Amino acid sequence: MTCYLCNGNYKQSTTTHFVDLKKCMVIVKHVPCWECEQCGEIVYDDAVAERLDAIIKQVAEMMTEIAVVEYTDSKAA
Ligand SMILES: [Zn+2]
Repeated sequence: MTCYLCNGNYKQSTTTHFVDLKKCMVIVKHVPCWECEQCGEIVYDDAVAERLDAIIKQVAEMMTEIAVVEYTDSKAA
């Protein structure tokens, strides 16, 4: 897999994912991702992107203003 911006190689990494939902902000820590070695572009696997959406939706329902959560693979919640 190569970077669509600079054709650099991706390496497996983890990142912190921020989402601003207007009424609140969600921060998901330690999200598995691919990071370009050259330009630092971050991409997620489809499964991770889907899981992130689920986590964010779930957190947004019980939100105050800022939430910080750990990424988990669990589908149980
Ligand atoms: Zn790149």
